[in-house]
Amino acid sequence: MAKLKPPKKRVFGKAAHPCIKCGTYNAVIKVYGLYYCRHCFRELAPSLGFKKYM
Ligand SMILES: [Zn+2]
Repeated sequence: MAKLKPPKKRVFGKAAHPCIKCGTYNAVIKVYGLYYCRHCFRELAPSLGFKKYM
């Protein structure tokens, strides 16, 4: 019996974690262990030690 297994549900494209500041699931940056969306990351980046490069 070659029965196909049901496909596992995986989260692709959309982030699995919400932004820890504003709670949105859109464009969440989960790299470096921080879970901020790109909006909050932009605000917090300087205080976190990230510098803007041209
Ligand atoms: Zn946010």
